[in-house]
Amino acid sequence: MTKPLNEYTIVEAARALRARECTVLELWDACRTAAEEKNPALNAYLELFDADDAAIAAAQKRIDAGDTSMLCGIPLAMKDNILVEGKTVSAASKMLEQYRATYDATVTTRLKKAGALFLGRTNMDEFAMGSSTEHSAFGPTRNPVDPSRIPGGSSGGSAAAVAAHLCIAALGSDTGGSIRQPAAHTGIVGLKPTYGAVSRNGLIALGSSLDQIGPLAKSAEDAEILFAAIRGHDPLDGTTIDEATYPPVALPEKLTIGIPRALIGQDGVDPALRTVFTETLSKLEAAGHTLVDIELPMSSSALAAYYVIMPAEVSANLARLDGMRYGHAARGKTLLDDYLLSRTEGFGSETKRRILLGTFVLSSGYIDAYYRKADAAREVLRAEYARAFAQCDVIAFPTTPSAAFRFGEKSGDPVAMYLEDVFTVTANLTGMPAISVPMGAVETEGARLPVGIHFTASHGGDTLALLAAREVETAR
Ligand code: GLN
Repeated sequence: MTKPLNEYTIVEAARALRARECTVLELWDACRTAAEEKNPALNAYLELFDADDAAIAAAQKRIDAGDTSMLCGIPLAMKDNILVEGKTVSAASKMLEQYRATYDATVTTRLKKAGALFLGRTNMDEFAMGSSTEHSAFGPTRNPVDPSRIPGGSSGGSAAAVAAHLCIAALGSDTGGSIRQPAAHTGIVGLKPTYGAVSRNGLIALGSSLDQIGPLAKSAEDAEILFAAIRGHDPLDGTTIDEATYPPVALPEKLTIGIPRALIGQDGVDPALRTVFTETLSKLEAAGHTLVDIELPMSSSALAAYYVIMPAEVSANLARLDGMRYGHAARGKTLLDDYLLSRTEGFGSETKRRILLGTFVLSSGYIDAYYRKADAAREVLRAEYARAFAQCDVIAFPTTPSAAFRFGEKSGDPVAMYLEDVFTVTANLTGMPAISVPMGAVETEGARLPVGIHFTASHGGDTLALLAAREVETAR
């Protein structure tokens, strides 16, 4: 293989390491050198970690001894809200700029056990609120495909690092689309696992009933390898699923794919993107898969429900960042001053907006009108999807309404930014697994911008979603 080592997928790198075509150190150096060269322009990483010589040597030793772990010796990037012991973890907020992780997240422990290496921590929207990575306190990340455009968010740094080959693969977190949407905008694969498939222990909490950690990768197969390494029950996260209660999903030879035509036809979806989507469906049909029309009428309310529930959980989760227990501490004349100053200085404007919104929808007098209603909508959405899954294996729509936009285009208009999540939030509200896989590109102002197709599977059907993604890769 002639391509540079940093451009390898996990599968290619694992093979090359075992064929003695390269060493773990050479693979690390290739990624690290690419990151040093390109990161100043992209701002994908907030920090590059020093090489852990002992971990590199240990991984090499394992490979030499015949270890078959696919992730052994593979350099990965970590979103800056996942704890790696001893390293700064800031969630791209001034509030946690100096905060050091005192323990490993469960996913970190599992990846270390598998022999993976960590190149650095990646940029994101502050506390993972946003769809463009413009809300980072440390400057936006640029899209490697077109640096005048956003890479998507909130895991924009991880997506850009993978797409620009500044690592082999990465982890992100997804509360309403933050893995899938940046994956779509940068032309890579992103999986949001079933809620509870992956432990949230050691993930800086955003919306605890919505958050999942998942892979951003160069192929569906790579995403599956990473997912397999991090999934599974964890006594440190009581919401994780005991896999014994989830029998393996039967994988059909050919898929029945549900298409919610009304949803895809709505205003705001770029016609050029819709064309790429329709062409992709035709290719899947030509490959022997069956398309069925389905109805998801409640989906039009999903975004509204999400933007009530999510800020509500944010307002509770971020209450601990008060200048006393964690993070930035400013001192005033009184204790109240201390709280107010610390939070005023530490948080960015989007974070403040959501805390205010969340506090409002939970306040007595409004909780019934907003929070409880939105919560009830989750059940209705679950039931609607359950009915749809009686007819199909997976549900397909585009990941985003349009391709990557330019910096500043939506950052002044919160609602326009929120509308970016119209296709992705339902999977989080219902807990279902969902994946974005590249389906092609749209031409916009002289640029060819990647767009993604999104598959949702029923609860526990992560492997079905991954299978659908692989079928797109084959049919493309
Ligand atoms: N864009 C969504 C939001 O701003 C999703 C964020 C996420 O998934 N972390 O809430």
